[in-house]
Amino acid sequence: MKSWIEISRANLGHNLRAVQTLAGPAVETLAVIKADGYGHDATLVAQVLAEAGAPWLGVTDAEEGVRVRSAVGWSKPRILVMCGSEPADAPSLIEYKLTPVVWTLEHLHTLEHAAQGTAERFAVHLEIDTGMSRQGVTPGPDLDAMLRHFASSPTLFCEGVMTHLACAEASDGTRGASVTERQGDQFHQALKQVKAAGIKPAYIHMGNTSALDEGSTMPWIRAVAASFGAHAMVRTGLALYGDALPLEGNASAALHPHLKPVLTWKTRILGLREIAAGTTVGYGATFTAPHPMRLALLAVGYADGFRREASSGVGNGWVVIAGQRAVVVGRISMNLLVVDVTHIAVTLQDDATLLGEGVSADDHARWCGTIPYEILCGIRAQGRLI
Ligand SMILES: *Cc1c(COP(=O)(O)O)cnc(C)c1O
Repeated sequence: MKSWIEISRANLGHNLRAVQTLAGPAVETLAVIKADGYGHDATLVAQVLAEAGAPWLGVTDAEEGVRVRSAVGWSKPRILVMCGSEPADAPSLIEYKLTPVVWTLEHLHTLEHAAQGTAERFAVHLEIDTGMSRQGVTPGPDLDAMLRHFASSPTLFCEGVMTHLACAEASDGTRGASVTERQGDQFHQALKQVKAAGIKPAYIHMGNTSALDEGSTMPWIRAVAASFGAHAMVRTGLALYGDALPLEGNASAALHPHLKPVLTWKTRILGLREIAAGTTVGYGATFTAPHPMRLALLAVGYADGFRREASSGVGNGWVVIAGQRAVVVGRISMNLLVVDVTHIAVTLQDDATLLGEGVSADDHARWCGTIPYEILCGIRAQGRLI
């Protein structure tokens, strides 16, 4: 018996529209569904987003791209492979009409080799490193070498140029804001190099959920894209799933208040038992009942992504049963979890809500000392659309 997730089509569509409305008509949105749709099941959310008219989807790697392409069909949307590719991926990138992010000459050589003999030139997006030191080519001679290659390539073309911000949630006067400013300068320099090399990308993209929520870089990306005759694009993930990080500084969130939660994670109650005062619960006997208690045993544990940091005495997590909070008792096990239902009229027919109504990804993140991203993409459960 396993936990499951229910994905609200209506709320996912609502969040996409909220993102698109705030981005405005001059900025396209790429819907990020990497890491299996942030734990929501990439193939399910891809179908809903494609039906709702998302022009671009962003996946982790070629393998995820192939699954998503098979779920959404061949014509639309475009699919960007965001987190790198290996030489062995090149044939499936081409066969499944996936668009890889590239940043080394080796990427270009491999793709050129695989794309030889295809009818159309193959589109790639070039990532510029402006301060993440992760993916991306460094502006200057390395970038020039790649641009020269594009200029003479019979099989590839540079359809997009992108960068990624390190401190998108930071606003005015914070240290993060000065990092963003420096990244903007670097990106602008790189775009001038692109132009000087005679390359005209159709898309220039930068910014995630927090960039849109914070807002101050949006006029900049619009203006820069317009001055290069390209479409501006933002890449939003977390917002689609109904959440955003707190902003730093005193900007007010433009997007977060308009978002709705998309995922409800539920499980079954496997058993109910009464215990006497003085009885211990779970591994390490870390919890001792202070009074007679009624406990519910739930079919979920850390193997499913209900993290062990939420154990009682550590993060002190809870679930919701019959509309009421039932707190975690003792340590969370691999596939099982015990909660206190002394105060709740509960039967074996009730479901327990692990995340959704009454308990958020932010709550889980607080219990576990992490960010909602890590909670969502850590969920391992079968999904279905509702
Ligand atoms: C994951 C990712 C995003 C989306 O970030 P959110 O904060 O979820 O909106 C955007 N761009 C890149 C390069 C990413 O890796």
